[in-house]
Amino acid sequence: MNRRLSEIGCKTYRGTSFALPYRVRETDFTNFAGVIPGADRSLPPVLIGAHYDSVIPHPCADDNGAAVAITLAVAEAVAKSGGLERDLVIAIFDAEEPPYFLSEAMGSTRFYEDQVDERGIHFALISDLVGHDVTVPENCLNGLGAKIASPLKPLTFMTGAESHPDLPKLLDEIQVPDGMKLIATLNEYVGDMSDHAVFRWNAVPYVFLSCGHWEHYHQRTDTPDRLNYLKMAAIADYAESVCRRVAGAKLKDFINHEDPIEFEAKTWKRALGLFYKPVAMLLGVPNFKTRKHIEKAAQALQSFGL
Ligand SMILES: [Zn+2]
Repeated sequence: MNRRLSEIGCKTYRGTSFALPYRVRETDFTNFAGVIPGADRSLPPVLIGAHYDSVIPHPCADDNGAAVAITLAVAEAVAKSGGLERDLVIAIFDAEEPPYFLSEAMGSTRFYEDQVDERGIHFALISDLVGHDVTVPENCLNGLGAKIASPLKPLTFMTGAESHPDLPKLLDEIQVPDGMKLIATLNEYVGDMSDHAVFRWNAVPYVFLSCGHWEHYHQRTDTPDRLNYLKMAAIADYAESVCRRVAGAKLKDFINHEDPIEFEAKTWKRALGLFYKPVAMLLGVPNFKTRKHIEKAAQALQSFGL
């Protein structure tokens, strides 16, 4: 990790090393963080992050090698372009998986609590489980299988548009690359699945990207040959655009959260295209326009094991 961050052209975030060790209850862990300096280094940075630990001693390519690769690809692209309007922090976290998940030892939590510098964080983009095609089990497809299976593969889910009232509009202006199809939903439908949790708890604007669970989740069969590298490249492009766009935005102080329903409804419409109606039928809703229908659709997707 040290070598790769250095090759990309990152500066260290704190001290002289990318490695940021920490210790919790007699156990040693290590986060890594690098920085691509931006135009105004006094501003709070944008952070892009993913965990690198794995739940079992196997490749765990989708969980979470793919997200680490995407994070480093964004860092490299931003470095080559000469940086953003503010610093970009590349954070590679330890201890996301059980038994540390959502515990005090979780790498992202220790990073935010103990390792973030005095500038704080402007916005965080976290990804987890972003290497695979979305598949719905055959028995859930109600005979629509052949028709619907392939348009569902590029789906990529986002939560967090609700974390700041300026985000839905900013995100809506970003073109989603070919190779992925974005669907935005509320974080509360799925819960704090990954390292965005600590940012949400601390009211840091964030988005979380994930393709959800799949049959190889936390299995020895989560291997690199099963990943979709074209989809990953599209997600990397998209993540870079989000970092770039939000880095240039002020993000006003706010009191009330706003419901990003309109943005969410647009993402479903764009992502599903011609398959809007059949997918709505499959998920048991007339459309994806209201909070109630989107909530029901999100529950149906989760009931399929996503
Ligand atoms: Zn994970």
